This record gives sequence, structure tokens and C-alpha cells, in this order.
Amino acid sequence: MQEWEGKKVFGGIAIGKIYVYQKGQQQVRRMTIQDPDAELARYQAAKEAAVAQLQELYEKALQEVGQANAAIFEIHQMMLEDEDYQESVEHMICTQQVNAEYAVAVTGDHFSQLFANMEDEYMRGRAADVKDISERVLTVLQGQSGGSVQFSEPVILVADDLAPSETVQLEKDKVLSFVTVHGSLNSHTAILARTMGIPALIGCPVPLDATVDGKMGVVDGNTGKLYVDPEPAFLEQMKQKQLEEQEKKQLLQALKGKDNVTLDGQHILLYANIGNTKDLAAVLQNDAGGIGLFRSEFIYLERDHYPTEEEQFQIYRTVAETMGGKRVIIRTLDIGADKQCDYFELEKEDNPALGYRAIRICLTRPEVFKTQLRALFRASAYGKVAIMYPMITSVQEVRQIRQIAEEVKQELQEQGIRIGEPEQGIMIETPAAVIISDLLAKEVDFFSIGTNDLTQYTLAIDRQNSMLDAFYDTHHPAVLRMIRMVVEQAHAAGIWAGICGELGADPALTKTFLEMGVDELSVSPGNILPIRKIVRETDVAAYRQEMQERT
Ligand code: PEP
Ligand code: MG
Repeated sequence: MQEWEGKKVFGGIAIGKIYVYQKGQQQVRRMTIQDPDAELARYQAAKEAAVAQLQELYEKALQEVGQANAAIFEIHQMMLEDEDYQESVEHMICTQQVNAEYAVAVTGDHFSQLFANMEDEYMRGRAADVKDISERVLTVLQGQSGGSVQFSEPVILVADDLAPSETVQLEKDKVLSFVTVHGSLNSHTAILARTMGIPALIGCPVPLDATVDGKMGVVDGNTGKLYVDPEPAFLEQMKQKQLEEQEKKQLLQALKGKDNVTLDGQHILLYANIGNTKDLAAVLQNDAGGIGLFRSEFIYLERDHYPTEEEQFQIYRTVAETMGGKRVIIRTLDIGADKQCDYFELEKEDNPALGYRAIRICLTRPEVFKTQLRALFRASAYGKVAIMYPMITSVQEVRQIRQIAEEVKQELQEQGIRIGEPEQGIMIETPAAVIISDLLAKEVDFFSIGTNDLTQYTLAIDRQNSMLDAFYDTHHPAVLRMIRMVVEQAHAAGIWAGICGELGADPALTKTFLEMGVDELSVSPGNILPIRKIVRETDVAAYRQEMQERT
């Protein structure tokens, strides 16, 4: 048995087969298919999409680099239409009943080997081209089937690192656990693992090779350990532990339907953070009072094009309707920093976290912003939708945003489109916003404190840099004082204030937040019932007294 240690992202025990995910060269698994005709149609559609992509590339290259250099894309199109190549793929699908991905990958390898062994130098050079076109078709096929990585059974996913765009495209019900070699505790990949409520480790120096791939594994998210090829007795022991954890979770179920009220009668709202409509099941199962943060940028990250107004409207409407009148706070897109989206064509920056991200993109690309706002206002007719703006640093920005939102509202009304009256609030996640929170409170309906970024900007610690995890002091008094200040300023202006950063789910601070008068905590769905338990066991007045006596 091999044993590896990493940093803990989310507790719990996962037991299953390990899948090593290699970036860039996604492994294609052979799968038996039931319907060869449907598979042939998938292949044809993917091939046509690949040819269309190549045509676009050809035209672009023709303009930019001339006919001679553009010709390669014409050659690639011809290769894709080559009869021998096509026949080989189709034959494999029909006679071996394998998935199109596998047939394309094997054919690509086979043809490129043939070219590589040829005498003629020019023909030998074509080996790379065949590989290239096969990979293009594979990318389309994998995109079509809803994600870049597919598994036939639930797996423990082991990778070097995962970008948020890769994480969001994983088939979530097929991932038992994440283990990454790199990555920081505060990255969005870690946040997504928490939202999924699965055991996860990062910074785990496990080798990404055959000594691990395909082997049986156990992840213990409570101790930060990954065990590969466990001995039978140890495996039994871990299965028993897993069972005990499930029983503990079961006990928490008794708290479903109960109020979030302290022993001395103080109420707090417990909402859920989501990134996707797929997270809604967990939200309902865990009895969330609403959605406190829907990270809408994941809708953008899942696609290779700007989501249309209609696509977005359908998603927001589904969330609003599913929550049946409970508050649903949707944050406008927070692209940039670690959340990169190719089609936004953002320039590379030296300090992306301090750069062109979130509302800064929206205010300089009003067409993108307005499309999202139209979808949000339309969805607000179908439930209790609230709109939240990220990365605010000034009153001026908020006024500009409110002006654009007003224009969008008027346009929709003039077009006779039904809209609701969504609350509009802002994230408090920069020190500037904290310091002027008295002024900002006059401009908006609510505040939600983004402690992940607020900690990053207050302590001058890049949340993406895993070397700094030890310095990223989530309980730093500067951050806690800021939270108190924001809540006080919000209440003085008659608005409510919540916390939607990861700190909101820290059980060691629940009492502190109650004592500060925080109105809402938005946490990953799996954390709602454990926090409700603490709330219901707390006597805020007694805790305040205890704190005063200590100082
Ligand atoms: C935060 O910064 O705390 C937050 C909730 O936003 P994100 O983690 O998506 O940056
Ligand atoms: Mg943030």
C-alpha cells in the first residue's frame, strides 16, 4: 500500500478506483456502445464540426498570414474527408461496437504510425497532421458529450492541478473525490470540491503514472491522506469509518425543517453557494433557506462561446423556480484572475487578481453585461431573484452599474417583457469597499462579504499561491474587524449583510458571526446542517458576556 499526504479541502472518506487525469492529452477510454448507428451519427457530426472549425481557421489565416501558410488548414480538411480514414473509424464503431472517441483515437494513432514509417520525408511530416486532426475530432466529441473527461464508473480523480473551467465540466456524479498535486486551499477548484461535498486533497505529491492509475484508492479528507492499493484489512477498516460518517450525516438529517435560531431567540439565514443547476439537488437535500451565491461565471466557463440571453434566462429561471419563492442571489460574472475563459480573449497580466476581472470587465464590455442583466431581470419574474455585483471598490462604480441596470429594465419594459423587482446588492470583498461601506450601504439593498478575496487583498496574499497557504490566516483580526464594521454599517443604513466567502462555513466562527449580528451565512450545501446545529446550540447573550469577561 502506498500512502500520500496532502492539504485537506473537504472531509469525508472516498473509496474507489483512481483515475489519473493528464492535462492536454485526455485519456480515451474504450467503451462498449449499444447503438452503432447513433455512434456513427455522433462521429459524422463531430467530423463536420471539425471541418467547419478548420475552414474558419483557414479563412482567418488567409487574411493574416497569406495563402501559403493557410494551406495547412485546407490539407487538414482534406485529411478528415479521406475515405480510408473515415472507413477505418466507421468500421471499428460497427464491428467492435466501440465509442467514437476510441475509434478516432486508434485510427489516428494507426495512420500517424503509417506516415511516420514512410520513406518520403514530406509524407513522414504528415504523421503529426493526422494526430492533430484526430485530436480535433476528439475534442469536439468530448465537448458534445458534456465534458472533457468521462468515466464509466465513479472515480477518485487524481491530477496535477485543475483549472476551474476543467473542474466545472466534470461529470460531478462520477467523481468521488479530488486529489491534486498542486493548487491552493482557496482556489476555485477547492471551492468547487466543497460545493460538491466530496472529500478532497490538494498539494499531494502523488505520482501521476501507472503506479497509481486504475488502482484502488482511499481518500481520507479528515486526515489529508490518500492510500493507494490498500490491504484488505485496512480497506475494511476505512469502509467501517465511511459507514460511521454516513450515520453521523444521517443524524444531522433530523435538523431538516428546523429553524436557524439560537437558544436565546436570534435568527440567522443559512443559504447555499452554487455554481451550477446541478448543485440544486444538494441545496434542497440540505434544506437551504435560499441561494446566497450563484457563481454565474461557471455558465460562461462551461461553454466555448458567450452564453446567449435565452440560454442564461433558462438557467436563472430554473434556479428561481426550483427554489420556489426562496431568495436566489445571482452574482454577475466574475471572470478573470484564476477563472479564464478563452473566448473573452483577455490579455495575459502580471497580477491577474489585481487586474481586469469581474465588474471591471462588465463595465468596459457593456454588451456582455447587458445580455446577462436582461436574462437576470427576465428571470426575476419567476421567483425571488436578487442580483449581486462583485469586486466593488467605489460608489461611482455602483452608480454606473445601477444606471446600466435601469436602462436594461426600461428596455425590457418597453418591449413588453415581464420582469420582477429584484433586490440589487454588492459583494464586499475589497478593503476599499469595507472602508466606505457606510457610503455604499446607501446605494444598494444588501451586502454579502466575500471573505476569500477580502482576506487575499487585506493580507496581501495571493489566494492561488499554495506556498502561502500557511500565511493565509482566515481568522486574522483585521479581517474579523472588517466583517464587524461592514455589518454595523449595513444595519445603520437599514440593509442586511451576509457572508458568502468560505469563512462563513467555519464552525469555529459561527458564534462570533452570530454575536456580530451577521444576518446570513451562505455556505456549501453540505455545511448547512452542521452550521444549523451550532446555531441552535448557541446562547448569543451568554457568549457575548463570556467574551467581555475575557477581555
Ligand atoms: C469571495 O471572494 O469570498 C467570494 C465568495 O467570491 P469568489 O470566491 O468566487 O471570488
Ligand atoms: Mg471573490
